[in-house]
Amino acid sequence: MSHIIPLWDPVSLAVSGSNDRFPVRRVFCVGRNYADHQKEMGGTGREQPFFFAKAAHDVVPGGGDIPYPPKTANYHWETEMVVAIGKGGARIAAENANAHVWGYTVGLDMTRRDLQQVGKDKGQPWTFGKDFDQAAPMGTLVPAAKIGHPSKARIWLQVNGQVKQDANIEQMIWSVPEQIAFLSQHYTLEAGDLIMTGTPAGVGAAKPGDELIAAIDGLGELRVRILPIV
Ligand code: MN
Repeated sequence: MSHIIPLWDPVSLAVSGSNDRFPVRRVFCVGRNYADHQKEMGGTGREQPFFFAKAAHDVVPGGGDIPYPPKTANYHWETEMVVAIGKGGARIAAENANAHVWGYTVGLDMTRRDLQQVGKDKGQPWTFGKDFDQAAPMGTLVPAAKIGHPSKARIWLQVNGQVKQDANIEQMIWSVPEQIAFLSQHYTLEAGDLIMTGTPAGVGAAKPGDELIAAIDGLGELRVRILPIV
């Protein structure tokens, strides 16, 4: 079969200790999932989790140089643990959820905060704020077969050598199994789906030229440099 336009390869993440790669199908993201970040965004207490999506097209495997995006003056970092689904399913029970996870890495849910705010104010979608080119740099996947299912690990971000976010994934309001249970009531999850599991406090605006190092203990580092505006 031929195609009208050239077919593209699916975006894929590198896998620690292997030459194989993990193809990305969809990217789900949970909002306000750390109490201290929820507070800084104006939330109160344990609300029902809510999700938005980024396109797989937004993923920047391995990080590196990314451009400062257009149409924003408030381009925020959000350091997050990323969960890679290896076995799909619908209506997955939280107690069985880990069996659906292939691995974990660290990612950045880059956000045009000013455009997201327009969406919030007007009751419009967050698409322009969250789903844009190069909006999801991600590190190397670490297989759960090697490290198990982390529920406690330091998550941090340095910008130009200064610590901006520093927390622990155990501070998530909704655990990874709870997120999978909730999400899989609304979608049939598929192998290749990713979940960005929320960011702790300390979000802030990146500038052209900034060097970001995001990390989760046990899952390695992700380095990103924001290119100057041309
Ligand atoms: Mn986020």
